Amino acid sequence: MLSVATTNGTAVDLYSTISPASPYAKMLFQRVLNASEYVGTVLFYASYHVPNAMASSRPFFLANGTVSHYERYVIYNPNFMKSMEFWSSNEFVPLAIFAHELGHHFYAHTDNLNAIAKHPWTKEVEADYYSGFILARLGAQPSDLELSQRLMFTMWANDTHPDSYSRISNIAKGWKDGGGIGLVEDHLHMIYSKINNELNRWH
Ligand SMILES: [Zn+2]
Repeated sequence: MLSVATTNGTAVDLYSTISPASPYAKMLFQRVLNASEYVGTVLFYASYHVPNAMASSRPFFLANGTVSHYERYVIYNPNFMKSMEFWSSNEFVPLAIFAHELGHHFYAHTDNLNAIAKHPWTKEVEADYYSGFILARLGAQPSDLELSQRLMFTMWANDTHPDSYSRISNIAKGWKDGGGIGLVEDHLHMIYSKINNELNRWH
């Protein structure tokens, strides 16, 4: 069972908490799929029990106990998505989040028993690359990319994790490979330092 914690601390099966995605969320996710090179089915749902947004694979078993197949899911928390979009006022922010989660499936990160798309950092870096790639294909500008980087920073566990820079740099790499035009790579280090300074001056 892939479990998530409820508000009173008990564990429940993640898939018992999911509900249909809103039409608006579905429309955004479809835009991401259309811009992607992803082949296959991803089931797209909402759940108020996931921390932000996540990719997961649900195993189905044969009688002998071996896995017959996986269903791939992207599940978002409506409250999280609402606040990310609201504070950014930028549609590329939710698009970047969904693209990141689709990236986990593009690279088959969750197709093993009880795997959840969280760490190690190499997986996150690959999903970040993919989200940059999709954003470029959707026509994002460098300013949209910077805003998405900022907002994603707030999702990451540790502001100053040594790999944070490599994550940002992979978003930019994907963006460039997806046809993004602009000085994103050149300004990358500056943006990174700026974000770090802004975050650290409150402590
Ligand atoms: Zn991820």
